[in-house]
Amino acid sequence: MLIVQKFGGSSLADPVRLRRVAGICAEARKRGNQLVAVVSAAGDSTDALLETAHKIHPHPPLRELDALMATGEQRSAALMAIMLESLGHAARSFSGWQAGIHTDTRHGEAAILRIEPRRLLETLAEGKIAVVAGFQGVSPREDVTTLGRGGSDTTAVALAAALEAERCEIYTDVDGIYTADPRLLPDARLLREIDYRDMLRLARAGSQVLHPGSVRLAMDTGLPVHLLSSFRAGEGSLVRALSEAERPALVGVTRDEARSTVTVVGRAADSGLREELSRQLEQCGIPVRGSSEEEGCVTLTVAPAQLLPALELCHRAVIG
Ligand code: ASP
Ligand code: MG
Repeated sequence: MLIVQKFGGSSLADPVRLRRVAGICAEARKRGNQLVAVVSAAGDSTDALLETAHKIHPHPPLRELDALMATGEQRSAALMAIMLESLGHAARSFSGWQAGIHTDTRHGEAAILRIEPRRLLETLAEGKIAVVAGFQGVSPREDVTTLGRGGSDTTAVALAAALEAERCEIYTDVDGIYTADPRLLPDARLLREIDYRDMLRLARAGSQVLHPGSVRLAMDTGLPVHLLSSFRAGEGSLVRALSEAERPALVGVTRDEARSTVTVVGRAADSGLREELSRQLEQCGIPVRGSSEEEGCVTLTVAPAQLLPALELCHRAVIG
């Protein structure tokens, strides 16, 4: 069985964590699977690279920013392969271009056009783990491109689809998708399963567990995506196509700090819910500055200082 596992930046932030993540890969190998591991840049290192570039130049050329940002994931990939080798598992690291990830030319937000995974397939056939630097590819001009912030998820899903993997597992610092960010609302509940459409709306509205582009791709290819914790064993959450009977009426609540919005997601999120939540917020002294609805989600804008109380109230109102 071929599995793609993706590890987020906080799971790779130091050698101790790297060792733990390598243990997860080793487990999958021991069960006899072929394995492609996709890695993000460690911790906040992408932000640090951007900061350095902006110290040198107020508007760094986008081509060079991509060349710079791609190094974060390349570093993680090489370190991960070294860690795996140190544990006795044969592994090879690949940058995006080496992995055959071809994109368009839009620096900083490139789209994957096709994948030519010849080297990955050779590596797997030799019984080795292929470790791929996420978030990057190569343009038709043979320049390094990046896929947009959070884009390593997209690399993982795209590779899983191209390689016809059995599973795509995404490991992060939370153990799945919750009805709200559990770091903000301790009452939030883990969702064992979530439909692609609801996950996509949560991702677009600010939930950072999965990149929206990766959800879209998984939905289009019908690839189930399993969200798991790098730090704790658990069942996680499965993102897949649910039937209307399986799909809850209201799924969860998320916020977008930059836009100062709270969004409620679920097939029952409609104009009636928008009016009801606006009324309840106003009643609790939280003025609603604007609101909108789309199929399956209602968005309310409040003052930045009232974002957290608004999130709490909406969560209590729709989830309980
Ligand atoms: N390192 C990149 C970012 O911070 C990509 C990723 O982590 O998925 O956006
Ligand atoms: Mg991410």
